[in-house]
Amino acid sequence: MRALPASVLAVCGLIASACGGTGSGGAAAGQAALTTTQAQASPSSAPAREAPPDAKPLDGKVIVIDPGHNGANYRHPAEINRKVNVLTQWKACDTTGTQTRSGYTEAAFTWDVSQRMKRILERRGATVKLTRNSNNGVGPCITERAAIGNRAKADAAISVHADGSNNARHRGFHVILPEKINGPVDKVVGASGKLGIAVRDAYRKGTGIPYSNYIGKNALDYRSDIGGLNLSTVPKVLFESGNMRNPDEAAKFQSPQFRQKIALALANGLQHYLEA
Ligand SMILES: [Zn+2]
Repeated sequence: MRALPASVLAVCGLIASACGGTGSGGAAAGQAALTTTQAQASPSSAPAREAPPDAKPLDGKVIVIDPGHNGANYRHPAEINRKVNVLTQWKACDTTGTQTRSGYTEAAFTWDVSQRMKRILERRGATVKLTRNSNNGVGPCITERAAIGNRAKADAAISVHADGSNNARHRGFHVILPEKINGPVDKVVGASGKLGIAVRDAYRKGTGIPYSNYIGKNALDYRSDIGGLNLSTVPKVLFESGNMRNPDEAAKFQSPQFRQKIALALANGLQHYLEA
């Protein structure tokens, strides 16, 4: 999609900046340290303390990954502009998301990164569920995206997005965290904060992408207007991986190798949180 209709932008959380309030996503990472198995470390050491090579550190954990937006949203404005109740206000069911200057869409980015994350986390033993099963459909609404995590009783949930500030000097990533709203999310606000910090630290370390220079403080932004967070009863954050309108970050996002790095970083952040 080219220029986003004003009505779409208005619903987005970050009106002036990009994918708008609905979030943007990213991932966090902390890589190698997580999966350390000491098996190859020293052949002479006692075997008793060594993790088996097939250790599954996330065995029994349920993770819901929400790839932001959907590839055909832009063709169904009436459906995605339908207003839904997110407790603190009414917002559009979903939005189109942003795109790089060369036309690589946020929906394609979040879909690819989320699938990569799923593969990594499943190899580590987690049960992983995505909130959509292709990048050529519509929605689901942000209310349903939250409900999927709740029904799964996820140990952790993450919405993956990327922002779209048209100021090319705007760069870096940030994590959107829920605030207490006198609603069901209140009981997971504390845990979501811990999840957000784990994912932030892992992403910074794993990708080298800096903290946002235009949103949040130390890459953390607490909000009460994000439907996917307000309606969550499980620990959840919305990750804005960077600014798709910034040429340097756009080039990274368009590289499959870099997206793998992003996915690994986010998976590591989730694991750090779940193991803490
Ligand atoms: Zn987004």
